Amino acid sequence: MSHFCSCKDHSCPFNPHNESGEGGCDGCIQKCLREGEIPACFFNAVSAQQENLKTFTFEEFARFVIDHCRESK
Ligand code: SF4
Repeated sequence: MSHFCSCKDHSCPFNPHNESGEGGCDGCIQKCLREGEIPACFFNAVSAQQENLKTFTFEEFARFVIDHCRESK
């Protein structure tokens, strides 16, 4: 079954493209909220240029959005 998830980490047990059967947004978002992170699909929606990303925290996401908005202007 196809899924819209754009996360490239296929080793993550929550990735719906993973065959483990645990996959899905519920588990992914629960884990992200617990760890203060934003799911990868949101980063991917902003930009594919993620070489300089060190974390997936709320703060890093805010900086990432601001940096890529400036690049496009
Ligand atoms: S929330 Fe997680 S599992 Fe769901 S689409 Fe986004 S990255 Fe994929």
